Amino acid sequence: MPKSKTPAGCPCGGPSLDSCCGPFLSGATVPQAAEQLMRSRYTAYTLGNEPYLLATWHSSTRPAEKIINPDERLQWLGLEVKSALRLRQRKVNEGEDFVEFVARCRIGGKGQRLHEVSRFLREADEHGVLRWYYVDGQFPE
Ligand SMILES: [Zn+2]
Repeated sequence: MPKSKTPAGCPCGGPSLDSCCGPFLSGATVPQAAEQLMRSRYTAYTLGNEPYLLATWHSSTRPAEKIINPDERLQWLGLEVKSALRLRQRKVNEGEDFVEFVARCRIGGKGQRLHEVSRFLREADEHGVLRWYYVDGQFPE
């Protein structure tokens, strides 16, 4: 059995879905920080919420093909956000931010560790609302 510290919590590790990523996924509110968007995208992956993933993907890098493969037997196990890089690069550019994280998952029964430094840009959407978008990622290891 996979160990989980907060079985009723948000998939990203927050105290509960309703007080964490839920309002972002439902569209009730917009993430104000790149880390919030990153966490909500992780949660969207765990819930199979492909529309949210597409809506928060920057138009320049948004994939045309399907993101989630239902045959993959992919199970997300947990997220760890690392702050060091983000703090180092904070305020370099107001409309750009980086979040380093490690996500663990199991694909077809095999444990995997995804270590990524994601890049985010903040731009106004068609209604003039400033939103963070996932652009791309680097893999430090
Ligand atoms: Zn969350």
